[in-house]
Amino acid sequence: MELRQCPYDSTEIEAESWSGGSVLLICPRCGAAWEWHGAWIRRVRAPERAEVMRAAAARPPQETDRRGAPTMRA
Ligand SMILES: [Zn+2]
Repeated sequence: MELRQCPYDSTEIEAESWSGGSVLLICPRCGAAWEWHGAWIRRVRAPERAEVMRAAAARPPQETDRRGAPTMRA
């Protein structure tokens, strides 16, 4: 498993090596951080709620279809 995009705002995540062979993954947008070590990922810092809300609002409508209806394609 690999985390490349922030699950909260789809921003590309930055990785830096951490102690003990772990990798620290940081979202530069909302500030959320994860510790990635081999097969597991653990969140070490929660995202900034205001930034996540802003990202969700800015997303194109087809990605956040809240109507629940299937998208029709011609
Ligand atoms: Zn983020």
